[in-house]
Amino acid sequence: MIDNTNKVAVIFGVRNDSSIAYDIAKKLHLSGCKIALSYLDDTKTEVLHLIKELGLPDYCAMQVDVCNETQIADFFQNVKLNLGSVDYILHAVAFGSQEVMCYSLPGSNIPAPNYLNIPFEDLMDSFNISAYSLLRIARVAEPFLVENASILTLTYNASQRVFPGYAGMSINKAALENIMLYLADYFRIKKVRVNALSPGLVMTTSAGGINGVRKLRRVGKLTAPLGNIDTGDVGNAALYYFSDLSKRVTGNIHYVDGGFNIMGIAIDE
Ligand code: NAD
Repeated sequence: MIDNTNKVAVIFGVRNDSSIAYDIAKKLHLSGCKIALSYLDDTKTEVLHLIKELGLPDYCAMQVDVCNETQIADFFQNVKLNLGSVDYILHAVAFGSQEVMCYSLPGSNIPAPNYLNIPFEDLMDSFNISAYSLLRIARVAEPFLVENASILTLTYNASQRVFPGYAGMSINKAALENIMLYLADYFRIKKVRVNALSPGLVMTTSAGGINGVRKLRRVGKLTAPLGNIDTGDVGNAALYYFSDLSKRVTGNIHYVDGGFNIMGIAIDE
């Protein structure tokens, strides 16, 4: 039903085959979309391998640090040259240091850093990567976007309710959601829509850095009316935003969490 033939998607945030962005990339590819992926130096081998598995040429991937405006601009220019103007952008990027995420290192006896002591510089680094990068990417992408393009980011419910293990990253997700709203208004003239998916917990590499992640999965399984989700559930919802079906939907936070967010109490037995 979803036909993305001749559409072009730029995807930030594939690390490995467990990444949420990878499931979305696969589904976009299957729907006929031309896709381009970004990688970091430490994820290059893995991402180039995945590109090969999808049967895509190497020029569909480029090294891009989302804090580096020049690298982002080179990426979009490369996409325009090789694939065409951009219909879809996925922002699936986040990073927080141990101090920001307040977790203790595996096997260490040193207690986890305290929320009160989150260092400002670490928080600003994680804000730059995890929240401001959406604004930076949107700014650079603007001249490359077609009318009716769709920008999608990934947030987490810790932006609005307290999940102590998510610590400083919650600040970034709250900011990210706000940036998403203001971009949705900013892009009204071009009719570009900007939305966020808010998935429940999925076991990806990034999720491994969340303090008490296994407990959260256990509680999620019992508490959410529909139980825990997986990356495939997120990919399915993303495909709605990366299709003409969502043409008139913008500024939305779309939960994909089995209903976890509606519960007032955790069921943990
Ligand atoms: P992941 O580790 O697979 O993806 C995170 C990506 O961010 C990686 O590809 C990494 O290379 C990239 N990244 C980090 N710093 C970067 C930088 N400076 N420049 C460019 N890229 C950079 O983990 P994931 O869980 O798939 O995370 C994707 C998004 O989904 C994140 O925004 C995350 O917060 C969000 N999310 C995840 C969950 C979950 O439970 N896994 C739940 C809700 C929201």
